[in-house]
Amino acid sequence: MTLTRSILAIAFVAVAQHALVQQAWAQAAPAPDLEAILADPKVGKSLEDIRADDERTFLEQKRITEIPAPPFKEKVRAEYFQKRMQELGFKDASIDAEGNVIARRKGTGSGHPLLAVAAHLDTVFPEGTDVTVKEKDGTFVGPGLGDDARGLVALLAIIKAMNAGGLSTVGDILFVGDVGEEELGNLRGMKALFRDHADIDGFISIDGLGIDRIANQGTGSHRYEFVFKGPGGHSFQEFGLPSAIHAVGRAIAKISELQTPTNPKTTFTVGTVSGGTSVNAIAAEARMAVDMRSNSTEELLKLEAKLLDLVKQAVAEENARWKTDKLTLDIKLIGDRPAGITAADQPIVQVVRNSVNVVRNGPNATLGGSSTDANLPMSLGIPAVTIGGGGEGGNWHSRNEWYKPTDAWMGPQSALITVLMLSGLDGVTKPALAVRAAK
Ligand SMILES: [Zn+2]
Repeated sequence: MTLTRSILAIAFVAVAQHALVQQAWAQAAPAPDLEAILADPKVGKSLEDIRADDERTFLEQKRITEIPAPPFKEKVRAEYFQKRMQELGFKDASIDAEGNVIARRKGTGSGHPLLAVAAHLDTVFPEGTDVTVKEKDGTFVGPGLGDDARGLVALLAIIKAMNAGGLSTVGDILFVGDVGEEELGNLRGMKALFRDHADIDGFISIDGLGIDRIANQGTGSHRYEFVFKGPGGHSFQEFGLPSAIHAVGRAIAKISELQTPTNPKTTFTVGTVSGGTSVNAIAAEARMAVDMRSNSTEELLKLEAKLLDLVKQAVAEENARWKTDKLTLDIKLIGDRPAGITAADQPIVQVVRNSVNVVRNGPNATLGGSSTDANLPMSLGIPAVTIGGGGEGGNWHSRNEWYKPTDAWMGPQSALITVLMLSGLDGVTKPALAVRAAK
């Protein structure tokens, strides 16, 4: 209630100080459309529904968190999500062959623009992880509570609010609870979605908290596991054999000296190392896992080529040191996400920015890069951004992941305004999202 009033007040002020608002919030067209959408009583009702439903939404967030969804094992959570979509009116909400839950909300137009809005079902946590949500002084701890149970409930809140206000859009909307966002999932859910729906015109991922960080760059990543294998032997009797651990040491020393550009941001780290059997044995086996990331595919590939070369050199040097060729190397690609960017002047970025700013009541939403489902459409040249689901939190991907539902409703509210702007509010605005040329 309070919020709706403040939103409407902002809209009023926006009308009154049109020039100022335009200057502060946008270069592109959407400001008058934004005002029209905010002034619509049905939209007011929908925004109010989100605010009034804030507490229940958080209860459901906890409930979803407590349904385990390890990578490749999202099925139980997917079925819950499908049931919830059905309860919200999508009788034919379905689960595709990959495991994504998909519902289509028809618009009043020809089916386009077609906007997909997604949150991911999977977590990084393996089977058997205790996923019970615990509270301490208003802070909640639960693995996956923010990432991405928050996105999933924000998505349901948007659907519910659109029903509550009786909103019709011009374009169609695909609501998606997707699989395979984390780790070795390697965006398999997105790959399936964009293969089966090649006519999607724009994409929004709700992943992350707060609302003031908008990701219009998809950080690409390549990850490798290197396995070094040698003969192994007693540290004293068989001194003279190459060591798998020494080779890893050589490789890490070389990798540590790599130089990468700060813009586009390009990074690397040896994330894990293991190996050896005892202190008095020349190690027969050692492993290391390496993560490389960049906001540019070109830089990522350059870094990858250099790094692979250094690891091979390390093995060659360890063999040369002991005049042998007994040490070998296995290279396994364990992570592959494409990089991409949606230019800051694209309508989808402008719309998200304006929607977030109007809900936050300030023009400070920032653009940046992250690695999410939006990487895939970005890499295909489809306008895509990732936005936050609301609330605050931290310790991502750890069992101590925490979340606090501070102003959590801001997430679904700004997302709803974004959806309406992009898809067009029937009888009020035209869709800001362009229909892509048929291929
Ligand atoms: Zn996530």
